[in-house]
Amino acid sequence: MSESNEDKGDGTRVVGAGRRPEWTQGIVNPPVWRASTILYDSVADLRANARPDTHHKLFYGRRGTPTQWSLADALTQLEPGAEATFLYPSGVAAVSAALLSVLSPGDELLLADSVYDPTRSFATGFLKRFGVATRFYDPMIGGGIADLIGERTRAIFMETPGSLTFEVQDVPAIVAAAKARGVTTLLDNTWATPLLFPAIEKGIDLSILACTKYVVGHSDVMLGSVTAAQSHWARLRDTSYALGQTASPDDAWLGSRGLRTMALRLRQHGEAALEIARWLQTRPEIARVIHPALPDCPGHALFLRDFKGPAGLFSFVLAGGGETERATLIDNLQLFGIGYSWGGFESLAIPIDPDRIRTVMPWRAEGPAIRLQIGLEDPADLIADLAQALDRVRGAS
Ligand SMILES: *Cc1c(COP(=O)(O)O)cnc(C)c1O
Repeated sequence: MSESNEDKGDGTRVVGAGRRPEWTQGIVNPPVWRASTILYDSVADLRANARPDTHHKLFYGRRGTPTQWSLADALTQLEPGAEATFLYPSGVAAVSAALLSVLSPGDELLLADSVYDPTRSFATGFLKRFGVATRFYDPMIGGGIADLIGERTRAIFMETPGSLTFEVQDVPAIVAAAKARGVTTLLDNTWATPLLFPAIEKGIDLSILACTKYVVGHSDVMLGSVTAAQSHWARLRDTSYALGQTASPDDAWLGSRGLRTMALRLRQHGEAALEIARWLQTRPEIARVIHPALPDCPGHALFLRDFKGPAGLFSFVLAGGGETERATLIDNLQLFGIGYSWGGFESLAIPIDPDRIRTVMPWRAEGPAIRLQIGLEDPADLIADLAQALDRVRGAS
């Protein structure tokens, strides 16, 4: 069950990935191997194992056990062309380790104006103090990014679509411009996962996932990963070792358990979200639905060209109104939780205010905006719930 199944369907690939017989010992889902100390047969044996690359060898608990190796290997197999994957205790830990594996003081980072807010804070806070300058770019810049690449530019960090406002970036054009200048490309691929956007195959050097979202899929574990092209693996591994990064075997085990159903869940999240997004477009209270598979989304044509399908997270803008209308709508939803994160089985709704974050690409909207994560409830029930909450907004205004 350990061959990559690269030519097979997504369901087959996630079921088989990472399950090497020497790690599972015949158990279907890789079990939890917990360890700190590993015992050696002799001093000679201990010395023989004390090498910098202990990848896939029991060495010391921090370097993982077959439980973590199996999930990491599975994520590598889902990214055709990738060398290996490192796991982290959260998505933010994965983002920061990936950036630190590339950047040194004096370097410049190009960061999409649409990125996840904590990624932005890591750049403007920690990286600034560390001597790295950040320049934000318009996520719709495409090949025009070449004009922003300077002497000191070391890396370009993308997130497509952006996880609040869903601009779809021209990854192939940005990658081409970066490669021409020897600049490293990083992508936060949490929305699409490698199933909907195989990032390494598209030329990305470091592909990042908040596994907390779709890989885990049940809103009960924090976990992150970075999958690297061969050229970037050694630095990523050594930087992550130096930072003491390690994901717990229990969390990795839950990650593996979630992964087995990820293709099935993503399909359901994607289909239901699109159905709901299309229905929202018909409502007079709504000015605009921002979903990569719909024409109002910036980069919609790039989405059709580059992605294998939609995921379950999108936003919409109310036609006028303010904080009261928005809160009335969200507070009256019965089936949607109010909370951060996404990718789990339960639907969620949050208010979003991109204008408070943006610097180069001002956010203009007809009214307040809301982001929805569509869970695994029946879409008809979710639509009925949204309908009754929208009716209340209209009644209140
Ligand atoms: C949630 C999220 C992260 C961070 O993941 P955590 O596991 O919550 O630290 C990073 N990027 C994106 C796009 C996310 O949605």
